[in-house]
Amino acid sequence: MYQYSRAIYRSLKDLIDPYTDERTRLEYRRALLAECELTMSRLAADPHYFARPDRTLFQDIRRYFPITAQAQVAWAVREGVGAAMAFIDQQIEAGAFDGGVARCKATTRKGKACQRTPLPGRDYCPSHQHLEARSSLAA
Ligand SMILES: [Zn+2]
Repeated sequence: MYQYSRAIYRSLKDLIDPYTDERTRLEYRRALLAECELTMSRLAADPHYFARPDRTLFQDIRRYFPITAQAQVAWAVREGVGAAMAFIDQQIEAGAFDGGVARCKATTRKGKACQRTPLPGRDYCPSHQHLEARSSLAA
């Protein structure tokens, strides 16, 4: 999920209020990343019960941006959170999401979805992690 929070962060970090001093700006950036990650972990843990995550995130971070950037921030948040939600829906459909617990993406030799928990931040469990290396080489 963190690729989505980082993508939102990247699309927003340069819009942070340019008229504050550098220290405040750094503080805002850190807070922005933390809010994005918090939203993504809530969404991953509770995809069915987290209503309007895009609106919640926007309300939480809008104070870091000048008034002239608000519309762009709202748009980027909607796009980014929308992409994350689409990804979660896909995972749920594929059976890779079970009560908020991600499952390894691999298929076992018997043709069933692997039931093991993936390594932190990864798509595959320890026995299938070689598959991840291959897919990231292809990407
Ligand atoms: Zn596995």
